[in-house]
Amino acid sequence: MEVHCTRPRCPRSQNYFADLDDITTLKTAQQKYCTMCGKALMRDGRYVPIKLSGKSG
Ligand SMILES: [Zn+2]
Repeated sequence: MEVHCTRPRCPRSQNYFADLDDITTLKTAQQKYCTMCGKALMRDGRYVPIKLSGKSG
């Protein structure tokens, strides 16, 4: 699963965690951190998945 870094200015906001592809693992996995800036990737207790559909704004 690709997770988006919650830091707006992150130089590399796309993080990929193969173990998060499993929904069971996703619920029990430890907090993940951005591999680039080290910021926690959870927001409001949930991960922010990358949306494939482009949306301006
Ligand atoms: Zn980051």
